[in-house]
Amino acid sequence: MTAIEQSAPTKYPDVRNYIGGTFVDPSVEEHLDVTNPADGSVISRVPLSAANDVDRAVAAAKEAFPGWSGMPIKERVQVFFKYKALLEKNIDELAALVTEENGKVLNEGRAEVLKSAELTEFACSLPQITAGEVLEVSRGVECRVERFPLGVVASIAPFNFPNMVPNWTIPNAIALGNCMILKPSELVPISAGRIAELLRDSGLPPGVFQVVHGGRDAVEAICDHPDIAAVSFVGSTKIAKLVYRRATANLKRCLALGGAKNHLIVMPDADREMAATNIVASMSGCAGQRCMAASVMVAVSKTDHIIERMVDVAKAMVPGKDVGPVISAAAKERITRYIDEAEAGGAKVLVDGRRASVAGKENGYFIGPTIIDHVTPDMRIAQDEVFGPVLVIVRTPDVDGALAIENASPYGNAASVFTESGGVARYVMEHASAGMVGVNVGVPVPREPFSFGGWNESKFGVGDITGRGSIEFWTQSKKMTTKWNKEAGVNWMS
Ligand code: NAD
Repeated sequence: MTAIEQSAPTKYPDVRNYIGGTFVDPSVEEHLDVTNPADGSVISRVPLSAANDVDRAVAAAKEAFPGWSGMPIKERVQVFFKYKALLEKNIDELAALVTEENGKVLNEGRAEVLKSAELTEFACSLPQITAGEVLEVSRGVECRVERFPLGVVASIAPFNFPNMVPNWTIPNAIALGNCMILKPSELVPISAGRIAELLRDSGLPPGVFQVVHGGRDAVEAICDHPDIAAVSFVGSTKIAKLVYRRATANLKRCLALGGAKNHLIVMPDADREMAATNIVASMSGCAGQRCMAASVMVAVSKTDHIIERMVDVAKAMVPGKDVGPVISAAAKERITRYIDEAEAGGAKVLVDGRRASVAGKENGYFIGPTIIDHVTPDMRIAQDEVFGPVLVIVRTPDVDGALAIENASPYGNAASVFTESGGVARYVMEHASAGMVGVNVGVPVPREPFSFGGWNESKFGVGDITGRGSIEFWTQSKKMTTKWNKEAGVNWMS
Protein backbone atom coordinates (compact mmCIF):
# COMPACT_ATOMS: atom_id res chain seq x y z
CA MET A 1 0.00 0.00 0.00
CA THR A 2 1.22 3.51 -0.71
CA ALA A 3 1.32 6.28 1.84
CA ILE A 4 -1.66 7.78 0.03
CA GLU A 5 -3.85 4.70 0.43
CA GLN A 6 -3.08 4.38 4.13
CA SER A 7 -4.33 7.87 4.91
CA ALA A 8 -7.73 8.53 6.46
CA PRO A 9 -10.45 9.59 4.00
CA THR A 10 -10.86 13.32 3.53
CA LYS A 11 -13.70 15.45 2.17
CA TYR A 12 -11.88 15.90 -1.13
CA PRO A 13 -9.80 13.18 -2.78
CA ASP A 14 -6.05 13.60 -2.99
CA VAL A 15 -5.15 16.45 -5.29
CA ARG A 16 -3.63 15.34 -8.62
CA ASN A 17 -1.59 17.12 -11.23
CA TYR A 18 -3.31 18.16 -14.45
CA ILE A 19 -1.24 17.44 -17.54
CA GLY A 20 -2.21 17.14 -21.20
CA GLY A 21 -5.90 17.73 -20.47
CA THR A 22 -6.30 15.04 -17.76
CA PHE A 23 -5.69 14.59 -14.07
CA VAL A 24 -2.68 12.36 -13.49
CA ASP A 25 -0.93 10.86 -10.49
CA PRO A 26 2.32 12.48 -9.46
CA SER A 27 5.57 10.53 -9.56
CA VAL A 28 6.00 10.99 -5.81
CA GLU A 29 4.30 9.47 -2.80
CA GLU A 30 5.06 12.36 -0.47
CA HIS A 31 1.92 14.35 0.29
CA LEU A 32 1.04 17.22 2.64
CA ASP A 33 -2.27 17.68 4.40
CA VAL A 34 -4.55 20.44 3.13
CA THR A 35 -6.31 22.06 6.08
CA ASN A 36 -9.46 24.13 6.43
CA PRO A 37 -8.17 27.06 8.54
CA ALA A 38 -11.63 27.71 10.00
CA ASP A 39 -11.68 24.45 11.96
CA GLY A 40 -8.29 22.83 11.48
CA SER A 41 -9.77 19.79 9.71
CA VAL A 42 -7.81 17.99 6.98
CA ILE A 43 -9.82 18.26 3.76
CA SER A 44 -7.40 16.78 1.23
CA ARG A 45 -3.76 15.95 0.57
CA VAL A 46 -1.46 17.55 -1.96
CA PRO A 47 1.50 15.87 -3.66
CA LEU A 48 4.97 17.38 -3.47
CA SER A 49 5.77 16.88 -7.13
CA ALA A 50 9.33 16.33 -8.31
CA ALA A 51 11.36 17.49 -11.30
CA ASN A 52 10.10 14.67 -13.51
CA ASP A 53 6.49 15.81 -12.94
CA VAL A 54 7.53 19.24 -14.18
CA ASP A 55 9.28 17.55 -17.16
CA ARG A 56 6.08 15.73 -18.02
CA ALA A 57 4.02 18.93 -17.84
CA VAL A 58 6.53 20.85 -19.96
CA ALA A 59 6.55 18.08 -22.58
CA ALA A 60 2.74 18.29 -22.87
CA ALA A 61 2.86 22.09 -23.10
CA LYS A 62 5.60 21.95 -25.73
CA GLU A 63 3.56 19.58 -27.83
CA ALA A 64 0.47 21.81 -27.63
CA PHE A 65 2.34 25.04 -28.38
CA PRO A 66 2.56 24.97 -32.21
CA GLY A 67 -1.18 24.36 -32.60
CA TRP A 68 -2.24 26.89 -29.98
CA SER A 69 0.16 29.66 -30.94
CA GLY A 70 -0.64 29.12 -34.61
CA MET A 71 -4.28 29.99 -34.02
CA PRO A 72 -5.25 33.64 -34.59
CA ILE A 73 -5.66 35.51 -31.31
CA LYS A 74 -9.29 36.27 -32.14
CA GLU A 75 -9.94 32.52 -32.12
CA ARG A 76 -7.89 31.92 -28.98
CA VAL A 77 -9.86 34.44 -26.92
CA GLN A 78 -13.14 32.67 -27.71
CA VAL A 79 -12.11 30.18 -25.00
CA PHE A 80 -11.91 33.01 -22.49
CA PHE A 81 -15.36 34.40 -23.29
CA LYS A 82 -16.67 30.96 -22.30
CA TYR A 83 -14.33 30.72 -19.30
CA LYS A 84 -15.55 34.08 -17.98
CA ALA A 85 -19.15 32.90 -18.27
CA LEU A 86 -18.28 29.69 -16.41
CA LEU A 87 -16.53 31.59 -13.61
CA GLU A 88 -19.69 33.66 -13.19
CA LYS A 89 -22.03 30.69 -13.46
CA ASN A 90 -20.09 28.70 -10.86
CA ILE A 91 -19.28 31.60 -8.55
CA ASP A 92 -21.04 30.16 -5.50
CA GLU A 93 -19.20 26.86 -5.67
CA LEU A 94 -15.83 28.47 -6.52
CA ALA A 95 -16.17 30.99 -3.70
CA ALA A 96 -17.13 28.26 -1.22
CA LEU A 97 -14.02 26.31 -2.23
CA VAL A 98 -11.82 29.38 -1.70
CA THR A 99 -13.40 29.83 1.74
CA GLU A 100 -12.84 26.20 2.61
CA GLU A 101 -9.17 25.97 1.71
CA ASN A 102 -8.07 29.55 2.47
CA GLY A 103 -10.42 30.54 5.29
CA LYS A 104 -11.55 33.94 3.99
CA VAL A 105 -15.26 34.64 4.47
CA LEU A 106 -17.68 33.84 1.67
CA ASN A 107 -18.19 37.36 0.33
CA GLU A 108 -14.40 37.72 0.09
CA GLY A 109 -14.30 34.44 -1.84
CA ARG A 110 -16.98 35.80 -4.17
CA ALA A 111 -15.06 39.05 -4.66
CA GLU A 112 -12.01 37.01 -5.63
CA VAL A 113 -13.93 35.07 -8.30
CA LEU A 114 -15.52 38.29 -9.62
CA LYS A 115 -12.03 39.74 -9.98
CA SER A 116 -10.99 36.59 -11.88
CA ALA A 117 -13.89 37.28 -14.26
CA GLU A 118 -12.71 40.88 -14.71
CA LEU A 119 -9.18 39.68 -15.45
CA THR A 120 -10.59 37.30 -18.04
CA GLU A 121 -12.66 40.09 -19.58
CA PHE A 122 -9.41 41.99 -20.14
CA ALA A 123 -7.89 38.95 -21.86
CA CYS A 124 -10.91 38.86 -24.18
CA SER A 125 -10.02 42.39 -25.31
CA LEU A 126 -6.40 41.51 -26.17
CA PRO A 127 -7.01 41.25 -29.93
CA GLN A 128 -8.05 44.90 -29.91
CA ILE A 129 -5.23 46.01 -27.62
CA THR A 130 -2.42 44.10 -29.33
CA ALA A 131 -3.30 45.00 -32.93
CA GLY A 132 0.11 45.64 -34.51
CA GLU A 133 1.64 48.88 -35.67
CA VAL A 134 2.46 49.58 -39.31
CA LEU A 135 4.00 52.56 -41.12
CA GLU A 136 5.35 53.28 -44.59
CA VAL A 137 8.81 54.39 -43.44
CA SER A 138 10.03 55.39 -46.91
CA ARG A 139 8.48 55.12 -50.33
CA GLY A 140 7.37 51.51 -50.82
CA VAL A 141 8.98 50.31 -47.60
CA GLU A 142 6.83 49.28 -44.70
CA CYS A 143 7.73 48.54 -41.08
CA ARG A 144 5.39 46.62 -38.84
CA VAL A 145 5.53 45.19 -35.34
CA GLU A 146 3.76 42.00 -34.36
CA ARG A 147 3.71 40.25 -31.01
CA PHE A 148 4.55 36.58 -30.66
CA PRO A 149 4.19 34.28 -27.64
CA LEU A 150 7.26 33.03 -25.81
CA GLY A 151 6.42 29.30 -25.73
CA VAL A 152 6.06 27.37 -22.48
CA VAL A 153 5.71 29.66 -19.48
CA ALA A 154 5.16 29.08 -15.75
CA SER A 155 3.14 30.79 -13.05
CA ILE A 156 3.87 30.22 -9.35
CA ALA A 157 1.18 31.34 -6.90
CA PRO A 158 0.80 32.12 -3.16
CA PHE A 159 -1.85 30.92 -0.70
CA ASN A 160 -3.78 34.12 -0.16
CA PHE A 161 -5.85 34.21 -3.37
CA PRO A 162 -6.34 30.61 -4.57
CA ASN A 163 -8.59 31.66 -7.46
CA MET A 164 -7.60 35.25 -8.32
CA VAL A 165 -3.80 35.16 -8.38
CA PRO A 166 -3.65 32.20 -10.81
CA ASN A 167 -6.06 34.21 -12.94
CA TRP A 168 -3.71 37.21 -12.89
CA THR A 169 -1.59 35.21 -15.32
CA ILE A 170 -3.63 32.41 -16.93
CA PRO A 171 -5.99 34.35 -19.25
CA ASN A 172 -3.42 36.88 -20.52
CA ALA A 173 -0.49 34.50 -20.96
CA ILE A 174 -2.60 31.86 -22.69
CA ALA A 175 -4.69 34.23 -24.83
CA LEU A 176 -1.40 35.72 -26.04
CA GLY A 177 -0.48 32.25 -27.34
CA ASN A 178 1.67 30.70 -24.60
CA CYS A 179 1.19 27.29 -22.99
CA MET A 180 1.35 27.36 -19.21
CA ILE A 181 2.41 25.35 -16.17
CA LEU A 182 0.70 26.61 -12.97
CA LYS A 183 2.29 25.75 -9.63
CA PRO A 184 -0.33 26.67 -7.00
CA SER A 185 0.42 27.12 -3.31
CA GLU A 186 0.54 23.74 -1.60
CA LEU A 187 -1.61 25.28 1.16
CA VAL A 188 -4.57 25.94 -1.20
CA PRO A 189 -4.27 23.53 -4.14
CA ILE A 190 -7.90 22.55 -4.70
CA SER A 191 -9.13 25.66 -6.54
CA ALA A 192 -6.47 25.12 -9.23
CA GLY A 193 -8.07 21.80 -10.19
CA ARG A 194 -11.44 23.52 -10.67
CA ILE A 195 -9.77 26.22 -12.77
CA ALA A 196 -8.30 23.45 -14.97
CA GLU A 197 -11.75 21.86 -15.35
CA LEU A 198 -13.38 25.17 -16.27
CA LEU A 199 -10.69 25.91 -18.85
CA ARG A 200 -11.19 22.43 -20.33
CA ASP A 201 -14.97 22.95 -20.39
CA SER A 202 -14.40 26.29 -22.13
CA GLY A 203 -12.71 24.45 -25.00
CA LEU A 204 -9.02 24.97 -24.17
CA PRO A 205 -7.11 22.26 -26.07
CA PRO A 206 -5.23 19.64 -24.01
CA GLY A 207 -1.68 20.63 -23.09
CA VAL A 208 -2.22 24.38 -23.24
CA PHE A 209 -2.65 24.53 -19.44
CA GLN A 210 -1.04 22.27 -16.83
CA VAL A 211 -1.10 22.22 -13.04
CA VAL A 212 1.84 20.78 -11.14
CA HIS A 213 1.40 20.74 -7.37
CA GLY A 214 4.14 20.92 -4.81
CA GLY A 215 6.58 23.20 -3.09
CA ARG A 216 10.25 24.00 -3.34
CA ASP A 217 11.29 21.05 -5.55
CA ALA A 218 8.65 21.85 -8.16
CA VAL A 219 9.54 25.56 -8.13
CA GLU A 220 13.23 24.86 -8.51
CA ALA A 221 12.56 22.45 -11.37
CA ILE A 222 10.53 25.18 -13.09
CA CYS A 223 13.32 27.73 -12.67
CA ASP A 224 15.87 25.25 -14.06
CA HIS A 225 13.89 23.76 -16.94
CA PRO A 226 15.51 24.63 -20.28
CA ASP A 227 12.18 24.56 -22.15
CA ILE A 228 10.42 27.10 -19.92
CA ALA A 229 10.87 30.58 -21.36
CA ALA A 230 9.36 32.76 -18.65
CA VAL A 231 8.43 32.46 -14.98
CA SER A 232 6.01 34.64 -13.07
CA PHE A 233 5.97 34.40 -9.30
CA VAL A 234 3.75 35.88 -6.60
CA GLY A 235 4.61 35.31 -2.94
CA SER A 236 6.89 36.52 -0.17
CA THR A 237 9.90 38.73 -0.88
CA LYS A 238 12.28 36.08 0.46
CA ILE A 239 11.12 33.49 -2.07
CA ALA A 240 10.61 36.09 -4.84
CA LYS A 241 14.32 36.89 -4.62
CA LEU A 242 15.27 33.19 -4.76
CA VAL A 243 13.02 32.56 -7.75
CA TYR A 244 14.08 35.72 -9.59
CA ARG A 245 17.78 34.95 -9.12
CA ARG A 246 17.43 31.30 -10.12
CA ALA A 247 15.19 31.84 -13.15
CA THR A 248 17.24 34.73 -14.54
CA ALA A 249 20.52 32.85 -13.86
CA ASN A 250 19.02 30.24 -16.20
CA LEU A 251 18.46 33.07 -18.73
CA LYS A 252 14.69 33.11 -18.37
CA ARG A 253 12.46 36.10 -18.30
CA CYS A 254 11.13 36.50 -14.75
CA LEU A 255 8.65 38.74 -12.99
CA ALA A 256 8.55 38.07 -9.25
CA LEU A 257 6.10 39.90 -6.99
CA GLY A 258 7.01 39.89 -3.32
CA GLY A 259 5.62 40.93 0.03
CA ALA A 260 4.44 44.30 1.26
CA LYS A 261 4.18 46.72 4.15
CA ASN A 262 1.59 49.25 3.10
CA HIS A 263 1.39 52.68 4.74
CA LEU A 264 -1.77 54.74 4.95
CA ILE A 265 -1.06 58.38 5.70
CA VAL A 266 -3.97 59.97 7.55
CA MET A 267 -4.24 63.76 7.67
CA PRO A 268 -6.28 65.55 10.34
CA ASP A 269 -8.66 66.95 7.70
CA ALA A 270 -9.62 63.49 6.40
CA ASP A 271 -13.31 62.65 6.28
CA ARG A 272 -13.71 60.83 9.60
CA GLU A 273 -16.23 58.19 8.57
CA MET A 274 -14.73 57.47 5.17
CA ALA A 275 -11.21 57.20 6.57
CA ALA A 276 -12.15 55.05 9.58
CA THR A 277 -14.28 52.55 7.66
CA ASN A 278 -11.88 52.25 4.71
CA ILE A 279 -8.81 51.81 6.89
CA VAL A 280 -10.40 49.12 9.06
CA ALA A 281 -11.73 47.31 5.98
CA SER A 282 -8.26 47.42 4.44
CA MET A 283 -6.44 46.03 7.47
CA SER A 284 -8.99 43.34 8.31
CA GLY A 285 -10.17 42.18 4.85
CA CYS A 286 -9.03 38.61 4.08
CA ALA A 287 -7.79 38.61 7.72
CA GLY A 288 -5.04 41.02 6.67
CA GLN A 289 -3.57 38.40 4.33
CA ARG A 290 -3.49 40.67 1.30
CA CYS A 291 -0.40 42.19 -0.22
CA MET A 292 -2.50 45.38 -0.50
CA ALA A 293 -3.67 45.40 3.14
CA ALA A 294 -3.19 48.45 5.34
CA SER A 295 -0.38 47.63 7.71
CA VAL A 296 0.89 50.94 9.11
CA MET A 297 -1.31 53.97 9.67
CA VAL A 298 0.88 57.04 9.76
CA ALA A 299 -1.23 59.43 11.80
CA VAL A 300 -0.29 63.03 11.05
CA SER A 301 -0.87 65.48 13.92
CA LYS A 302 -4.36 65.53 15.48
CA THR A 303 -6.13 62.40 14.24
CA ASP A 304 -7.54 61.00 17.52
CA HIS A 305 -11.11 61.56 16.37
CA ILE A 306 -10.48 59.23 13.42
CA ILE A 307 -8.67 56.63 15.53
CA GLU A 308 -11.56 56.57 18.04
CA ARG A 309 -14.00 55.81 15.23
CA MET A 310 -11.68 53.12 13.83
CA VAL A 311 -11.67 51.45 17.24
CA ASP A 312 -15.49 51.35 17.25
CA VAL A 313 -15.63 49.94 13.73
CA ALA A 314 -12.99 47.28 14.45
CA LYS A 315 -14.60 46.23 17.74
CA ALA A 316 -17.92 45.69 15.97
CA MET A 317 -16.41 43.11 13.63
CA VAL A 318 -17.21 39.51 14.45
CA PRO A 319 -14.55 36.84 13.89
CA GLY A 320 -15.98 33.96 11.88
CA LYS A 321 -18.61 36.23 10.31
CA ASP A 322 -16.79 39.39 9.22
CA VAL A 323 -13.20 38.18 9.54
CA GLY A 324 -11.99 34.73 8.58
CA PRO A 325 -9.13 32.83 10.17
CA VAL A 326 -5.49 33.18 9.15
CA ILE A 327 -4.01 30.35 7.11
CA SER A 328 -2.37 28.18 9.78
CA ALA A 329 -1.63 27.69 13.45
CA ALA A 330 1.95 28.79 12.75
CA ALA A 331 0.71 32.03 11.15
CA LYS A 332 -1.52 32.72 14.16
CA GLU A 333 1.41 32.17 16.54
CA ARG A 334 3.69 34.42 14.47
CA ILE A 335 1.14 37.25 14.38
CA THR A 336 0.43 36.91 18.11
CA ARG A 337 4.15 37.10 18.87
CA TYR A 338 4.42 40.37 16.95
CA ILE A 339 1.56 41.87 18.99
CA ASP A 340 3.01 40.61 22.30
CA GLU A 341 6.40 42.05 21.45
CA ALA A 342 5.00 45.47 20.49
CA GLU A 343 2.98 45.61 23.71
CA ALA A 344 6.03 44.67 25.76
CA GLY A 345 7.93 47.42 23.96
CA GLY A 346 5.48 50.08 25.13
CA ALA A 347 2.88 50.20 22.35
CA LYS A 348 -0.78 50.43 23.34
CA VAL A 349 -3.17 47.75 22.08
CA LEU A 350 -6.43 49.60 21.40
CA VAL A 351 -8.29 46.66 19.89
CA ASP A 352 -7.03 43.20 20.79
CA GLY A 353 -7.88 40.24 18.57
CA ARG A 354 -5.52 37.76 20.23
CA ARG A 355 -8.20 35.93 22.14
CA ALA A 356 -10.74 35.66 19.33
CA SER A 357 -12.70 32.43 19.26
CA VAL A 358 -15.63 31.22 17.24
CA ALA A 359 -18.23 28.92 18.73
CA GLY A 360 -18.08 25.47 17.16
CA LYS A 361 -14.78 26.33 15.49
CA GLU A 362 -12.48 26.26 18.48
CA ASN A 363 -9.71 24.66 16.42
CA GLY A 364 -9.78 27.46 13.81
CA TYR A 365 -6.91 29.91 13.48
CA PHE A 366 -8.88 33.07 14.27
CA ILE A 367 -7.43 36.44 15.21
CA GLY A 368 -9.74 39.43 15.50
CA PRO A 369 -8.90 42.88 14.08
CA THR A 370 -6.13 44.39 16.16
CA ILE A 371 -5.16 48.07 16.33
CA ILE A 372 -1.99 49.10 18.13
CA ASP A 373 -1.20 52.74 18.85
CA HIS A 374 2.05 54.50 19.75
CA VAL A 375 4.18 52.10 17.78
CA THR A 376 7.59 53.49 16.89
CA PRO A 377 9.16 53.04 13.44
CA ASP A 378 12.04 51.00 14.87
CA MET A 379 9.76 48.23 16.22
CA ARG A 380 9.70 44.97 14.27
CA ILE A 381 5.92 45.17 13.97
CA ALA A 382 6.33 48.49 12.13
CA GLN A 383 8.88 47.09 9.71
CA ASP A 384 8.10 43.43 8.95
CA GLU A 385 5.22 42.10 6.92
CA VAL A 386 2.93 40.73 9.64
CA PHE A 387 0.28 39.34 7.23
CA GLY A 388 -2.58 39.30 9.71
CA PRO A 389 -5.48 41.62 10.68
CA VAL A 390 -3.18 43.98 12.53
CA LEU A 391 -2.80 47.73 12.05
CA VAL A 392 -0.10 49.68 13.81
CA ILE A 393 -0.34 53.43 14.31
CA VAL A 394 2.82 55.48 14.09
CA ARG A 395 2.44 59.17 14.92
CA THR A 396 4.21 62.02 13.23
CA PRO A 397 3.72 65.83 13.20
CA ASP A 398 3.67 66.53 9.45
CA VAL A 399 3.30 65.05 5.99
CA ASP A 400 7.03 65.04 5.26
CA GLY A 401 7.59 63.03 8.44
CA ALA A 402 4.90 60.61 7.25
CA LEU A 403 6.53 60.25 3.84
CA ALA A 404 9.91 59.66 5.45
CA ILE A 405 8.40 56.74 7.42
CA GLU A 406 6.76 55.33 4.28
CA ASN A 407 9.88 55.73 2.16
CA ALA A 408 12.09 54.01 4.75
CA SER A 409 10.30 50.70 4.16
CA PRO A 410 12.17 48.32 1.84
CA TYR A 411 8.82 47.32 0.33
CA GLY A 412 6.79 49.44 -2.08
CA ASN A 413 3.53 47.79 -3.02
CA ALA A 414 0.82 50.26 -2.01
CA ALA A 415 0.43 53.55 -0.17
CA SER A 416 -2.59 55.77 0.42
CA VAL A 417 -3.40 59.15 1.83
CA PHE A 418 -6.64 60.16 3.51
CA THR A 419 -7.26 63.90 3.19
CA GLU A 420 -9.69 66.46 1.81
CA SER A 421 -6.82 68.51 0.35
CA GLY A 422 -6.02 68.01 -3.31
CA GLY A 423 -2.56 69.52 -2.86
CA VAL A 424 -1.61 67.14 -0.05
CA ALA A 425 -3.04 64.19 -1.98
CA ARG A 426 -0.99 65.03 -5.07
CA TYR A 427 2.15 65.56 -2.96
CA VAL A 428 1.82 62.15 -1.32
CA MET A 429 1.02 60.40 -4.60
CA GLU A 430 4.13 61.91 -6.13
CA HIS A 431 6.51 61.22 -3.25
CA ALA A 432 5.38 57.87 -1.81
CA SER A 433 7.81 55.14 -2.86
CA ALA A 434 5.19 52.61 -3.95
CA GLY A 435 3.94 51.20 -7.23
CA MET A 436 0.24 51.62 -6.41
CA VAL A 437 -0.96 54.74 -4.59
CA GLY A 438 -4.42 55.84 -3.53
CA VAL A 439 -6.32 58.83 -2.22
CA ASN A 440 -9.08 58.05 0.29
CA VAL A 441 -8.87 54.40 -0.82
CA GLY A 442 -7.80 51.71 1.63
CA VAL A 443 -6.87 49.13 -1.00
CA PRO A 444 -5.64 50.96 -4.12
CA VAL A 445 -5.76 47.93 -6.43
CA PRO A 446 -5.77 49.12 -10.05
CA ARG A 447 -8.73 47.71 -11.97
CA GLU A 448 -8.36 46.43 -15.54
CA PRO A 449 -6.98 47.59 -17.93
CA PHE A 450 -4.55 49.19 -15.46
CA SER A 451 -1.72 46.98 -14.33
CA PHE A 452 -0.88 45.52 -10.92
CA GLY A 453 2.67 45.76 -9.65
CA GLY A 454 4.69 47.31 -6.84
CA TRP A 455 8.11 48.90 -6.49
CA ASN A 456 11.28 48.18 -4.53
CA GLU A 457 11.33 44.80 -2.78
CA SER A 458 7.68 44.20 -3.65
CA LYS A 459 8.55 43.39 -7.28
CA PHE A 460 11.57 42.13 -9.17
CA GLY A 461 11.66 42.33 -12.94
CA VAL A 462 10.27 44.58 -15.63
CA GLY A 463 6.60 45.08 -16.39
CA ASP A 464 3.50 44.37 -14.34
CA ILE A 465 1.61 41.17 -13.80
CA THR A 466 -1.84 42.17 -15.06
CA GLY A 467 -3.41 44.56 -17.54
CA ARG A 468 -1.50 46.26 -20.32
CA GLY A 469 1.80 45.90 -18.42
CA SER A 470 1.66 42.12 -18.72
CA ILE A 471 1.51 42.07 -22.53
CA GLU A 472 5.20 42.93 -22.88
CA PHE A 473 6.11 40.27 -20.34
CA TRP A 474 4.20 37.41 -22.01
CA THR A 475 5.22 38.21 -25.59
CA GLN A 476 8.15 39.16 -27.75
CA SER A 477 7.83 41.60 -30.60
CA LYS A 478 8.95 40.96 -34.14
CA LYS A 479 9.88 43.97 -36.21
CA MET A 480 9.19 43.34 -39.91
CA THR A 481 10.43 45.48 -42.78
CA THR A 482 9.09 44.78 -46.26
CA LYS A 483 9.56 46.21 -49.74
CA TRP A 484 7.46 45.00 -52.68
CA ASN A 485 7.98 47.99 -54.86
CA LYS A 486 11.06 47.75 -57.14
CA GLU A 487 10.74 51.45 -57.98
CA ALA A 488 11.50 52.25 -54.34
CA GLY A 489 15.13 52.19 -55.41
CA VAL A 490 18.24 51.76 -53.32
CA ASN A 491 19.09 53.65 -50.18
CA TRP A 492 21.10 53.13 -46.95
CA MET A 493 18.74 50.45 -45.68
CA SER A 494 18.65 48.36 -48.81
P1 NAD B 1 5.50 32.07 -0.18
O1 NAD B 1 6.60 32.90 -0.70
O2 NAD B 1 5.72 31.29 1.05
O3 NAD B 1 5.04 31.01 -1.31
C1 NAD B 1 4.78 31.40 -2.62
C2 NAD B 1 5.11 30.23 -3.55
O4 NAD B 1 6.49 29.90 -3.40
C3 NAD B 1 4.31 28.99 -3.24
O5 NAD B 1 3.86 28.43 -4.44
C4 NAD B 1 5.32 28.08 -2.53
O6 NAD B 1 5.09 26.72 -2.79
C5 NAD B 1 6.64 28.51 -3.14
N1 NAD B 1 7.77 28.34 -2.23
C6 NAD B 1 7.76 28.42 -0.87
N2 NAD B 1 9.00 28.24 -0.38
C7 NAD B 1 9.82 28.05 -1.42
C8 NAD B 1 11.22 27.81 -1.57
N3 NAD B 1 12.03 27.74 -0.51
N4 NAD B 1 11.74 27.68 -2.81
C9 NAD B 1 10.94 27.75 -3.89
N5 NAD B 1 9.60 27.95 -3.82
C10 NAD B 1 9.04 28.11 -2.61
O7 NAD B 1 4.23 33.03 -0.03
P2 NAD B 1 2.83 32.70 0.63
O8 NAD B 1 3.00 32.61 2.10
O9 NAD B 1 2.14 31.60 -0.09
O10 NAD B 1 2.02 34.03 0.28
C11 NAD B 1 2.04 35.18 1.07
C12 NAD B 1 3.05 36.16 0.56
O11 NAD B 1 2.76 36.50 -0.78
C13 NAD B 1 3.04 37.49 1.32
O12 NAD B 1 4.36 37.91 1.49
C14 NAD B 1 2.28 38.42 0.39
O13 NAD B 1 2.58 39.79 0.54
C15 NAD B 1 2.76 37.92 -0.92
N6 NAD B 1 1.86 38.32 -2.00
C16 NAD B 1 2.28 39.32 -2.81
C17 NAD B 1 1.46 39.77 -3.81
C18 NAD B 1 1.89 40.89 -4.69
O14 NAD B 1 1.19 41.22 -5.60
N7 NAD B 1 3.03 41.53 -4.46
C19 NAD B 1 0.19 39.19 -4.00
C20 NAD B 1 -0.19 38.14 -3.17
C21 NAD B 1 0.65 37.72 -2.16
